[in-house]
Amino acid sequence: MERKTPSLQTSSETCAAQAGGAVHGDERAIVSPIHITTTYERAPDNSYPGGKAYGRPDNATVEQCQTVINTLERAAATLMFGSGMAAATSFFLSLERPARVVVPKVMYWALRNWLGTDAPSFGVHPVFVDATQTREIEAAVRQGETRAIWIETPANPLWSLTDIAETAAIARRAGALLGVDSTAATPVHTQPLALGADVVMHSATKYLNGHSDALAGSLSFARQDAAFERASRLRGELGSVLGPFEAALLLRGMRTLFVRVERQSASAQRIAERFAGDARLADVLYPGLEGHTGHATACKQMANGFGGMLSLRLAGGENHAIQTAARLKVFKRATSLGGVESLVEHRASIEGPGTPCPTDLLRFSIGLEAVDDLIADIDQALR
Ligand SMILES: *Cc1c(COP(=O)(O)O)cnc(C)c1O
Repeated sequence: MERKTPSLQTSSETCAAQAGGAVHGDERAIVSPIHITTTYERAPDNSYPGGKAYGRPDNATVEQCQTVINTLERAAATLMFGSGMAAATSFFLSLERPARVVVPKVMYWALRNWLGTDAPSFGVHPVFVDATQTREIEAAVRQGETRAIWIETPANPLWSLTDIAETAAIARRAGALLGVDSTAATPVHTQPLALGADVVMHSATKYLNGHSDALAGSLSFARQDAAFERASRLRGELGSVLGPFEAALLLRGMRTLFVRVERQSASAQRIAERFAGDARLADVLYPGLEGHTGHATACKQMANGFGGMLSLRLAGGENHAIQTAARLKVFKRATSLGGVESLVEHRASIEGPGTPCPTDLLRFSIGLEAVDDLIADIDQALR
């Protein structure tokens, strides 16, 4: 648990670059040691002088991650989890149940699968809506019965937008919480809590860590209230915690968050503009393009760019898409996103039957390579 503490680093960039800004120990280390202890000594008076008793709830390296993400999201409190899925499922399981929840049809597939299959046995009952239409969200909400609205924006894998401020107003009127999966937007582009959301979730596995070498997740809360306390207690009970080594990798990754994401977004914008209107493609899906259905909403709630994710739909259909992915040389053919290396994926293949993902779609995660190399690679693969 981390409280937001007023400090000299008022800007997010400074907080991220200095991993919170603290120096550590008697030797005044600039980079903190990794705290691997699972237990802490009691004092003669039977108290725990350091305020920590056991490693499942209490770890200083994990708490340092919480402090940084808390500042990036301007949150009241942040909890780290062992993965993005652990964070997202904990949001739903910490609701007062049975809980009716309004969720998007287009969203991260593993969470959609859990909501559609196992969640009801935990008392979480999803209503799936087209979240690009706030009128549809509003129509699905039932006063006093809907416990939460969940949105993802931009949403996997179409990068469609949901208006966070409008959805927050709907949630407030219904007495429901608004949770936002902000993994693709990152704190560099969007601040959901400032727009009225109650909870922000990240798969920190992606952009926050940025190096494809650690799994982590977070929930950041607008208030340190009962919803936060339930999620915190549940994390301790279920043990869905982040390990200290992953926390240290994440702290290191977040130091470069802003330069990475700004460059990734600028490259994605260039690639999207270069291939928009290309006859070999049925569509270029990127919120930074004026023709994208979510562009106006993106301009309203995203700053400094539109993210590093884009999808291309191939005019030649599914086979053309899979063959194009196979011909790419610079892009590595793998799932996941947000790392420094560019990745490509035929999304329908991993999402399986029942996916709303078009079969002609390739999803691209733009990394830090020379953008001209990436453009040339896509161009040769489309031939
Ligand atoms: C990857 C991802 C998740 C799940 O996170 P894990 O860290 O893989 O558990 C959730 N939402 C989005 C948007 C993601 O990209």
